[in-house]
Amino acid sequence: MCGLCLPRCPTYRLFGIESESPRGRIALMGALAGGKLPPTAQLKRHLEHCLMCRACEASCPAGVPFGKLMETARELLRSGEPQPKPAGNLELLRRLSPALRLYQLSGIQKVARGARLPRLLGLDELERLLPRSSYRPRLREHYPATGERKGTVGLFTGCVVPLLDGETLTSSIRLLTRLGYDVAIPRGQGCCGALQRHAGRADLAYREALDNLAAFPLDELDAVVYVTSGCGPELLEYERMTGLSPARRQRAAMMSSKVMEISRFLAGIDWPRGLRPAPLEHTVALHTPCSQRWISPKGDPSRDILERVPHLEVVPLPASRHCCGAAGEYMLRHPEIAARLLEPYLEDLQRLQPRFLVSSNIGCSLHIGAALREAGSTLELLHPVTLLARQTGAA
Ligand code: SF4
Ligand code: SF4
Repeated sequence: MCGLCLPRCPTYRLFGIESESPRGRIALMGALAGGKLPPTAQLKRHLEHCLMCRACEASCPAGVPFGKLMETARELLRSGEPQPKPAGNLELLRRLSPALRLYQLSGIQKVARGARLPRLLGLDELERLLPRSSYRPRLREHYPATGERKGTVGLFTGCVVPLLDGETLTSSIRLLTRLGYDVAIPRGQGCCGALQRHAGRADLAYREALDNLAAFPLDELDAVVYVTSGCGPELLEYERMTGLSPARRQRAAMMSSKVMEISRFLAGIDWPRGLRPAPLEHTVALHTPCSQRWISPKGDPSRDILERVPHLEVVPLPASRHCCGAAGEYMLRHPEIAARLLEPYLEDLQRLQPRFLVSSNIGCSLHIGAALREAGSTLELLHPVTLLARQTGAA
C-alpha cells in the first residue's frame, strides 16, 4: 500500500487515477478474485490498460509479484469468454506474410492507403506498423562458422522478426559465424509464448513452450540466443511452468541455463584480433525496452556492443525510462493510449537529432517506426546487432 510504484507506472502518469495504477489494479484484482466485484466492463478496462511493463514490480520494496498477479487475473477474465484470439493479429500477419513484400514493393500499399482500404477492412492499426520494406530471408537450419570454430549457438528467431525484420536475422547469423560459431535455426521453433501469456492464455503459452523445448538440440548448443528482448523472460519462464514431465522440466532447466540475449552473447565472447568494427562518426540513440530495463535488469547489453564501434556516440533515450506503449499487441488493442505514451520519445528524438535509433525489441521498433514515418522523419531505426554487423562488414 506504500504507493512507491505509482510514479513509475505509465498509465498512472497518463490518467492520474488510482484504478490505473499498480496499487489500484492490485485492489481490483483482489476484489475480483474474492468475488467482491463482478467483472464489469470498467474493471476489465482498467486491467486491460496495464502494459505489463512491470516497472511497478521492479520498484516494489515488498516484492509484490505484479506480473504473475496480472497474468492470473487475465486468465480469470478469459475463462468466462468464448474462444478469444489473443494473438489474432500475429496470426493474420503470418498468413499474409507471403504477400507482404509484393504489397509493399509493387506500389499496392500506396494505392491501398490512398483508398483507405486498410481502414475499411479494420486493419489500419496493423497495416501502419509495416516497415517500408520487410525483407524476409529464407533461413537454412544450419550455418557453419567461418574461420576458427569455437562452438555452436541456437538462434531463437521469435515469431515477428522473421516476418518483418529479416536484416536482424541475417546480421546475427553473419556476425556469429564470423566470430567462429555454427548457427542452428531449428525449424520447429515458434513464438516464445509471451503474447499469449500476457493475454491470459497460459494454456497457449504452454503449447508454444513445448514446441520450443522439443525443437532445440540443447545438448549440442553452447547457448540459445534471441534477438527480441521480450522473448528472453518467457524462455526463462519455461522451467517454472506447471504440468511439465520431469524430462521436459530438465530440458526447460537446460534451456534456462543457455538462453542469452544476442548482444550479451556478442559482448561476452572473445573477438578475433583482426575483426574490428569500422569507425562511425555519428550519434546513436539507445532505446532500452522494458524487458531489458525492468524484467531482466542486468544492464543494457546493446550499449556494450555499440561501444565496440570507434567514435560512435551512444546516447540513452531518456523517455525509455517508461514504456513506449508497444507492449506486445497493446499498440493494436489500445492505439490511442499507445500513441500518447510515445509522445515523449518523439520529443527526445526531435531534441537529440541522432543519426540512428536502436532498439532490441521488434514490437517497440514497429511502434516507434510507424510514428517516425508518419512524422516524416528519416531517422534510421534498427537493431543494435545490425548496426554492429554493418560496421564489421558482416551485414
Ligand atoms: S505493469 Fe506497468 S502499466 Fe501495469 S501497473 Fe505495473 S507499471 Fe503500470
Ligand atoms: S505494489 Fe509494492 S510499491 Fe506498489 S503500493 Fe504495493 S507495496 Fe507499494
